[in-house]
Amino acid sequence: PSSEHSNFIRDIIDEDLKTGRHGDRVATRFPPEPNGYLHIGHAKSIVLNFGIKQDYADRADTQCHLRFDDTNPETESMEYVESIKDAVRWLGYDWDDHLYHASDYFEQFYDFAVVLIEKGLAYVDSLDETEIRKYRGTVNKPGRPSPYRDRSVEENLDLFRRMRDGEFENGEHVLRAKIDMASPHMIMRDPLLFRIKHAHHYRRGDEWCIYPMYDFAHPLEDAIENITHSLCTLEFDNNRRVYDWVLENCLEPDKVDDRPHQHEFARLNITYTVMSKRKLLQLVEEGRVNGWDDPRLPTIFGMRRRGITPDAIVSFCEDVGVTRSESRVEIAQFEHAIRDDLNEKAPRVMAVLDPLKVVITNVDDTLEPLEANHWPRDIDRDEMRSVPFSNEIYIERDDFREDPPSDFIRLAPGREVRLRSGYFFTCEDVIHNENGDITEIRGTIDPETRDGTAPDGRSPRGTIHWVSARHAVPFEARLYDRLFDVPAPDDGEEDFHAHLNDDSLIVKKGFVEPSVRDFDADQRFQFERNGYFWQDPEDSSDEALVFNQIVPLRDTWTE
Ligand code: ATP
Ligand code: MG
Ligand code: MG
Repeated sequence: PSSEHSNFIRDIIDEDLKTGRHGDRVATRFPPEPNGYLHIGHAKSIVLNFGIKQDYADRADTQCHLRFDDTNPETESMEYVESIKDAVRWLGYDWDDHLYHASDYFEQFYDFAVVLIEKGLAYVDSLDETEIRKYRGTVNKPGRPSPYRDRSVEENLDLFRRMRDGEFENGEHVLRAKIDMASPHMIMRDPLLFRIKHAHHYRRGDEWCIYPMYDFAHPLEDAIENITHSLCTLEFDNNRRVYDWVLENCLEPDKVDDRPHQHEFARLNITYTVMSKRKLLQLVEEGRVNGWDDPRLPTIFGMRRRGITPDAIVSFCEDVGVTRSESRVEIAQFEHAIRDDLNEKAPRVMAVLDPLKVVITNVDDTLEPLEANHWPRDIDRDEMRSVPFSNEIYIERDDFREDPPSDFIRLAPGREVRLRSGYFFTCEDVIHNENGDITEIRGTIDPETRDGTAPDGRSPRGTIHWVSARHAVPFEARLYDRLFDVPAPDDGEEDFHAHLNDDSLIVKKGFVEPSVRDFDADQRFQFERNGYFWQDPEDSSDEALVFNQIVPLRDTWTE
């Protein structure tokens, strides 16, 4: 693997390969629960797990499984399964034939539980949830054994079978590991292994009414699939004790040596957004955003619809790296990765988002179209386009000031500017309506400056973009800003809703030069001075163009 991707997890894998802990095998997995759409945090995990499979392929026998961790009947669905597959594929990864469902292992989970009961390491507890919590004690106070803790193996086997057979109501009994009610690690105080849940499972229907807990199911899923390195986020640090206990006590002794091991890394958090599926779901359900693929969301589908490419997401995740310290990555770093990726993919064109009409009084009708390169000088590509020019153009309203401050170098009464890829223009007149608003600028071009230089060598200080009014194509521009107006919306006392940015979507009616029509609908462009854009894949049509701003050209928030 290239050294730029090295991290502590790859160090562990290197060491395991050296000592031959798992022979020459490196098997990782990405284990989403199909209870929501994936977000960029999941992308970090996908890039990590599938990246290991790719980068170690030349020196190890590598696999990365896509496993649906679907042991929770209430919240899961096939729609989420399909959306997750779609997202992983879109990011550019392939699970080959390693697609698994934890819900295919229910019988095995049951059998492993029976093994524990037979070893005297699990028991059926009939306390209710509140009592279980009370008996568990606190960090400073050891727990007490449940009165049911010493049930005989026979009685436990019988009750557990009857739990499975549906003889009991939800909550009447649970199966618990028999570990240590006085352990300093709360999680080891007889963790729950199975609970009764009379609920319909999207794949197994009503076949089961007992479902395994995460801490029991997850290590077994990894072991069943012969995973070597089970990578999860830091919140599961403590759970590793149960993970190890389950495998050491469930697996055959000769399987224990080669068993999977869990390693934790810091989850990805990004400023000015929220990342949990639950909070994202709230925003969608409350109508704060327009669906799961709203371009303002950090969901994979939101980012895809916005126009961010998989390359940008993958390279961002690689740059962020994998560590064990929690932090919030600046959203500016993500935006930087997006710009970096689009810079060489996005031909330059001119579009005006907030049009102000300019009438050129010394031009009759239409002049010869101008020739302009789609690419700036520092990019080694030469694709020319023709840009129509006429006696009426639009410029950006912001590029004109009737009463300019001293440092304003764009257009003002009596001033000359360079029209990008075209003539020098001088403003001679300003037209207002009865409210005093500027409705039109009038002036003249210097016909000698067609190639952007003047014979007398003079050079205006400002250059502005423009489009020919008669030739330009009208479009709707959707400008996205941060969804929240504080860096850590879900950190403080206040509910994260309080920090929603009311201006996270601004819609404008603009005009773009006609050359955009020569490209495929999914082409990304740089609208000069306005940012990177592409056509909204849902709402744009040939008759009514809608462009999403993927990212502005620079971070306007730090200016
Ligand atoms: P959420 O907290 O957003 O609901 P989750 O962890 O419950 O996410 P899962 O479907 O269980 O979602 O996640 C699948 C995998 O993605 C897990 O291995 C998890 O560790 C990883 N993952 C989820 N969120 C992040 C994140 N923010 N950064 C890195 N990895 C993540
Ligand atoms: Mg989860
Ligand atoms: Mg979750």
